[in-house]
Amino acid sequence: MGIVQSFAQGHWVAPKGNVEPVHSALTGEVVAELGSEGLDFGAMAGHARRIGGPNLRRMTFHERAAMLKALGQAVMARKEELYALAFATGATRADNWIDIEGGAGTLFSFASKGRRELPNSQILIDGDTEILGKTGSFIGQHVYTPLQGVAVHINAFNFPVWGMLEKLAPTWLAGMPAIVKPAQQTAYVAEACVRIMLETGLLPEGAIQLVSGKAGDLLDHLTGQDVIAFTGSARTAELLQRHPVVAREAVRFTAERDSLNASILGPDAAPDSPEFELFVKEVAKEMTVKAGQKCTAIRRALVPAALIDAAQQALSARLAKTVIGDPRVEGVRMGALVGRSQLDDVREKIAELSRQAPIVFGDPEHVELVGEGLEGGAFISPILMRADDPWAADAIHEVEAFGPVSTLMPYRDLDDAVALANHGKGSLVVSAFTHDPDVARELVLGSASFHGRMAFIDRDCAGESTGHGSPLPVLTHGGPGRAGGGEELGGIRAVKHFMQRTALQGSPAMLSKVVGQQLAGAPIVEGDRHPFRLRFGELEPGYSVQTKFRKVTLEDIEHFAHFTGDTFYAHMDEEAAKASPIFGGRVAHGYLILSFAAGLFVDPAPGPVLANYGLEGLRFVKPLKPGESMKAVLTAKSKTLKTPDMGEVRWNVRVTNQDDELVATYDLLTMNAV
Ligand code: NDP
Repeated sequence: MGIVQSFAQGHWVAPKGNVEPVHSALTGEVVAELGSEGLDFGAMAGHARRIGGPNLRRMTFHERAAMLKALGQAVMARKEELYALAFATGATRADNWIDIEGGAGTLFSFASKGRRELPNSQILIDGDTEILGKTGSFIGQHVYTPLQGVAVHINAFNFPVWGMLEKLAPTWLAGMPAIVKPAQQTAYVAEACVRIMLETGLLPEGAIQLVSGKAGDLLDHLTGQDVIAFTGSARTAELLQRHPVVAREAVRFTAERDSLNASILGPDAAPDSPEFELFVKEVAKEMTVKAGQKCTAIRRALVPAALIDAAQQALSARLAKTVIGDPRVEGVRMGALVGRSQLDDVREKIAELSRQAPIVFGDPEHVELVGEGLEGGAFISPILMRADDPWAADAIHEVEAFGPVSTLMPYRDLDDAVALANHGKGSLVVSAFTHDPDVARELVLGSASFHGRMAFIDRDCAGESTGHGSPLPVLTHGGPGRAGGGEELGGIRAVKHFMQRTALQGSPAMLSKVVGQQLAGAPIVEGDRHPFRLRFGELEPGYSVQTKFRKVTLEDIEHFAHFTGDTFYAHMDEEAAKASPIFGGRVAHGYLILSFAAGLFVDPAPGPVLANYGLEGLRFVKPLKPGESMKAVLTAKSKTLKTPDMGEVRWNVRVTNQDDELVATYDLLTMNAV
């Protein structure tokens, strides 16, 4: 692999001196060299702000989403290059699948969320319009716009591809450029992935820069428009968070730190239950996937006191089947730790933990290996420890051995299980293997505030479950306290971490033009042509049609009732309707009002409106009695191009009665020809 390069100010650059060797996790031989000497970190931050930010901000959310999709496709098309490199990190093909294809999958997920949930514009509207004055001429509207700085991503060694892409996807979708600093041990895999993305030619200049080596004085150049997204140890997180520039400039900072995640076997899960078996499988899997170097791995396995022997036996039997060695050899299930220093660190932590929780499976100094030439590798056996008195063993709730290491412990009752889970002082994830919803609810009430994610796994969902340890792009990843207090992923929530929310105030007319959407109270425009005759490109937010009045008679209501079969008493039984505290007499069906509204505002001839595909935010505000009249106002509210030929138009419909009182309101969605 030779020298791992950095990508700075639009160029690949080799270190000017002082390179560090990177060793193969399998054999110990040098596989790459890297260093960041010679990089001008201030100029890199400036390049991102001056070139990358404006380039990305010129694109709409949908253009950025399309870029993410194409980048994901490029990674998938060249994934074998990454697999070939990544074996030297000690990971198996299955581990690398999580990293490489999981990384590409995260790009796809954000691409799809961006296309479906964000507008095809540069401003994201947040929440409803707030009416601030008596007449509605002064309103408030929250919006998000991208931060105008650079997102600095400082990543951990364990997932060089996924760990990078899961941060880049929301950063780019938001419209921010990034400087990525991968951990040195696996930076050669991250570098290869960055090359693949750059070679597509799709990334605008300045959207990405890469630091292969130390971060130098990068943080000295940050401002309040920048973001740091850190993954790694609590020690480094604390150091960075306390950096004087970070503190002074209030640089946005999120951290994903090591956490002592727990998994709980429910009190209802007897040894012959499916949940017991699922629990044993999952704990063993979490210990051995990626040789336990996973921020979400199960470090503490909690079981009902009466089942601790059975759980130990079953887990040991399962762990004994783990084939360890060269991940390129058929049948190997667990590879190596990332390097010898990680091995030393894990052994040290095991020594500390085992003083309070004796080892019941595995030997930290001895492991049977499959494969040749592995003497210099960083291999270790899975190590299971057992703490019979978990409240007397502080270390098991404080010390994380970042390897295939877990501690089994008993709990007395559910309250005790909750207290033990929370004793980790904040974690990324807790899982529970229970088939009892009451147990699950107790756990949520007692424990949810301590954990970023809770997975309840039972016989009903096991088949499709993504398991305890998988962060998913659509669900938040991150946890309070010891886990770092940060949040990543979670769909569009993650995009907002890279944007500023601003409350805009002004007149409805002004703010509607600013955000490109018709806000409550903005003036409407009625033209000669019915809005259904206008093509997508011709239609502007605010374009409107007002219908004539239509009287709703008792015959209409009865006809509708018999025709549809909806003979609910409020429409058909005068006595019962009179007794109702809401209606005080017979009223028209809500669905009749909707149908009549469509009958009033629809322009029937074939034209640019291709389909009606739904209503949103429907409210029936005031009943309509027989003999009363209704009319509708249909106003184009916003539009979003979906394909080159079609776009979605969101219309607001307001139905009022003869006294101009609001009867019903909703948004109608149509698909229109461009
Ligand atoms: P570190 O905290 O040492 O490193 C994490 C990242 O921070 C690396 O990119 C590292 O770069 C960088 N870094 C370190 N010091 C500085 C600094 N002064 N300024 C800027 N960047 C810096 O963690 P490790 O990778 O060594 O892993 C150690 C522990 O972290 C693990 O044992 C585990 O407990 C935890 N961890 C947690 C993860 C999670 O997702 N929550 C994931 C992985 C690890 P460099 O490589 O140049 O030192």
